[in-house]
Amino acid sequence: MKDQRLLMIPGPIEFDAEVLMEMGKPTVSHVAPDFIEVFGRAIEQMRELFQCHDGQPFIVAGTGTFSMDMACANLIEPGDSALIVSTGYFGDRMADILVRYGASVTQVRGPIGGVPDFDEIEKALNAENFKLMTITHVDTSTGVMNDVKSLSEIAKKYNVLVVVDGVCSVAGEELKMSEWGVDVAFTASQKAVGVPPGLALLVAGPKAIESFQKRKTPVQNYYGDWKNWLPIMENYEARKPSYFGTPAVNLVQALNLSLEQILAEGLDTRIKRHKRLSQAFKDGISGMGLKQVPMVEEYSAHTMTAPYYPEGIDPAQFLTGIKEEGIILAGGLHPDIKAKYFRIGHMGSVSFGDILRTVAAIEISLANNGYEFELGSGVSATIKSYNG
Ligand code: PMP
Repeated sequence: MKDQRLLMIPGPIEFDAEVLMEMGKPTVSHVAPDFIEVFGRAIEQMRELFQCHDGQPFIVAGTGTFSMDMACANLIEPGDSALIVSTGYFGDRMADILVRYGASVTQVRGPIGGVPDFDEIEKALNAENFKLMTITHVDTSTGVMNDVKSLSEIAKKYNVLVVVDGVCSVAGEELKMSEWGVDVAFTASQKAVGVPPGLALLVAGPKAIESFQKRKTPVQNYYGDWKNWLPIMENYEARKPSYFGTPAVNLVQALNLSLEQILAEGLDTRIKRHKRLSQAFKDGISGMGLKQVPMVEEYSAHTMTAPYYPEGIDPAQFLTGIKEEGIILAGGLHPDIKAKYFRIGHMGSVSFGDILRTVAAIEISLANNGYEFELGSGVSATIKSYNG
């Protein structure tokens, strides 16, 4: 039988066949003229994806956590203060990293499934002289999406650098770095950017670079030090050979192709597609009577969904049942509600067929695990939503 397994977790995602084929091409030298051209183009396209015309892209082998690490290591000096707008697990990780580099950290948290109060954020900004404020655009542990545009506006009043963790948002949610005043944004290859895991992707705006250049102390991370990577990125963009650490050649080739596909689809069209598919999926989830972790639709991500289990469902048995239908979903991640909910990723090249198959598998597994509802109510709601 054809292997029809479908990976519907919030990263890594299903990848486009052409992107995978690009990765499978023979590896060339990192200073081969053709590769220099590809790397240079990838850097230029990153600027378009992040909508930061005067930003400096960094494409470095690593994961999303390394993107976080790079942002913090290069901007923080011991004794600096940082404010974290936290909506879950990845806000806590950001706090750990910032503290590691010597920052004094203040966190403003929302309730689980909610966002922090804007007044509380403003109060915190008023009370202390922060070097930077971090926002997790979409926290993958809750599916909560922060209003980056409004939060950046508030931070700008206090002359604070805005750092956005866009690991679960870039290329799937609207993010306009220059227009919104975001100073650093980053992601990883395996999510909506649509490239297998292994690349940390970051864009630093002019104020972030200026702040980095004014440092009085050395960056406490050798591999991630922008001083090492800045000339490399500049050289590749100028189509000149360069070396600091061997780039992930095949991944960079795949990235360049994926970025071409993303920009050819058009960012607005792509974001609308994510919204439409997300709505159809979420309507399917509601159609079967399930609640979701995000408390308000306005703060609900379009790249993923986090539904609560109905009463009495055993998470392991439910996920096994889904797997038997050929779909892989993720369990809970937020420590406070871990066993109470599950997570579905729907980003990148995801199609309506993938959405429909996933909703059907959830219905089947719920029914087989004793949940009483009208079988087909989810699928029906999904189709109506998509076609509505
Ligand atoms: N931030 C967010 C919002 C994420 O979703 C993730 C990964 N799920 C990370 C950071 C860390 O990325 P990685 O697992 O690639 O290190």
